[in-house]
Amino acid sequence: MTLQEYVANAERLERELAERLATIDPATRIDAVKGELRDWRAQLDQLQKSITTVPPDGRRDAGIALNRVRKRFDDAMHAREAAAPARTSDATADLTMPARHPWRGGRHPVTLVIREIEEIFRELGFTIALGPEAETEWYNFGSLNFPPDHPALDAHDTLYLGPGTLLRTHTSPVQVRTMQRWAPPIRILVPGNAYRRDFFDPSHAPMFSQIEGLSVDEGVSFVDLKATLTNFARRFFGTARTRFRPSFFPFTEPSAEMDAQCGVCGGSGCPTCKGTGWIEILGSGMVHPAVLDAAGIDSERYTGWAFGMGPARIALSRYAIPDIRLLYDSDVRFLEQIAR
Ligand SMILES: [Zn+2]
Repeated sequence: MTLQEYVANAERLERELAERLATIDPATRIDAVKGELRDWRAQLDQLQKSITTVPPDGRRDAGIALNRVRKRFDDAMHAREAAAPARTSDATADLTMPARHPWRGGRHPVTLVIREIEEIFRELGFTIALGPEAETEWYNFGSLNFPPDHPALDAHDTLYLGPGTLLRTHTSPVQVRTMQRWAPPIRILVPGNAYRRDFFDPSHAPMFSQIEGLSVDEGVSFVDLKATLTNFARRFFGTARTRFRPSFFPFTEPSAEMDAQCGVCGGSGCPTCKGTGWIEILGSGMVHPAVLDAAGIDSERYTGWAFGMGPARIALSRYAIPDIRLLYDSDVRFLEQIAR
């Protein structure tokens, strides 16, 4: 091979290198680039070996031409290596993926509300009482002074398990069970699930949680009821104003619904309170003497008051949740916004 032919071959390889590199994505990893250029490297090695075919007086210039091509290759590889993404030991690792954060459980919004209510009443001297969710008709209705023709007893409103047994429609049976078991003074808070034959809609669910309270002692009056529940409202809702509206429940007489002044607007009216300035919180009343008697408590000597409220409804208004079904969908993307 003449010197001129050798130099021409070296220049051809140099041009070919530049053309090949231009077609390879700059983000390609360096070992992949070298793999793509394997046949080109073979040609370079071949050119190096054939330098012995150049006449001796031309070999120095042939070597210069060869080294220039090799240097061009080495420089290109170094530049590529510096610009390519960092390498890791794991060839499949995608460093652009978002990190996985450790998954931590939290309490459900309804549970948060229940715990907070429990804490307030615990400090007021109340004990937590629990009872069965499958109840007898007598505990669920009869002992609580429901007349036999009351519509709540209808199979269309209640989930009956069999003759005389049902899923409790409220947590009130626990009040009767407690009064049967313990002598006054009684101060209990009863959190638990209750069931109605309702279909899911934005404000109804066939299963819901309830919290009831009961206080029975000598000389207990409506004053105690108002004072205790107003104290609770002040601590839980941060509002000093409450109002009681006459109502009816079979198991209390007199009965009253309690509203608290809306903590969002201060009573002037807003979407949370539907423009009324008040939020319905609970139903309450003096325990009907017939209920005390049914539970074996002397209604001549003792009096009592009771209340009941729905923690889910309270959670809806507290966290501005528009639809009760969101609480039961188990959608973690929703729940983790509130869970603590
Ligand atoms: Zn309001």
